[in-house]
Amino acid sequence: MGVSNGRVINIISNFNAESKKISNILTKKLNDKGFYIPGKYSTEAELNVCIGGDGAFLRAIHRNGFPSIPFVGINTGHLGFFQEILPENIDEFIEKCINEDYSIEEISLVDGEICTKNKSFYLTAVNEIVVKGNKSKVVHLEIYIDGNHLERFSGDGVIISTPVGSTAYNFSSGGSIIYPSLKSLQLTPLSPISSKAYRSLPNSAIVPGHMVISIKPELRYENSILIINDGVEFKYSNIECINLKLSNKVIKKLNFDKNMYWNNLKSKFL
Ligand code: NAP
Repeated sequence: MGVSNGRVINIISNFNAESKKISNILTKKLNDKGFYIPGKYSTEAELNVCIGGDGAFLRAIHRNGFPSIPFVGINTGHLGFFQEILPENIDEFIEKCINEDYSIEEISLVDGEICTKNKSFYLTAVNEIVVKGNKSKVVHLEIYIDGNHLERFSGDGVIISTPVGSTAYNFSSGGSIIYPSLKSLQLTPLSPISSKAYRSLPNSAIVPGHMVISIKPELRYENSILIINDGVEFKYSNIECINLKLSNKVIKKLNFDKNMYWNNLKSKFL
């Protein structure tokens, strides 16, 4: 162990063997440079290093209560869109950490307020909140933007995605890619029905970050709605309205290069 430099870094790894191996190597290298790596998550740390794929990154944020400590990811996952550091570049990463040679960017989150007959429930997501039918049923939803009625949606459901979530489920469902610093939410239909019986917008709408998207399930669907928050399902009874807006909370993330987003996008998607 090197001479302590008084600096603390959390290493959060998933249970995959490769991630554990990288976690051990990184711990040893950081210890040699004088960093302290606590055994348990420390709120005193200057940095959270997350090892795994995007799923590990999302879980690390949710399980630690959307902390204000900046994150950086080392990719051992399949895609690793959030995880820009490759295991072979650990030494370069450590040098940049020592010299604080990075900028910090903010990731916008989406807040969901689920109002049921008796009580309201609150969720926050990094990628998206999905409102869809339980048991693969078609849902009929009244959709409002800032109190203005937009449409009566019929189909599988809708995705309300953040800018960083735009490359995830949103993208697979035909939504656009939104640069992370654009304060906005994207409302993307999932298999919208457009027929003589039902008419729904076929494409997504980009909504300014200060506006609220409200979704009211039609009366007989109040008990057949599924809410999916970053891939985790929630079920509520007697849903009257779901309000979605850009959160006041943000997640901080290290950025090593101003071109990082576009290079990452090209290398992960093309
Ligand atoms: P998961 O297996 O953890 O993730 C599914 C895929 O989405 C993985 O390849 C993951 O990357 C990638 N991913 C996650 N966030 C991303 C982002 N912001 N940009 C680009 N790719 C991203 O699946 P899960 O546990 O069900 O849910 C986690 C996320 O998966 C959800 O938030 C949702 O966005 C996404 N999802 C996508 C679809 C779809 O595309 N049809 C369906 C359901 C859920 P890694 O391989 O690095 O983990």
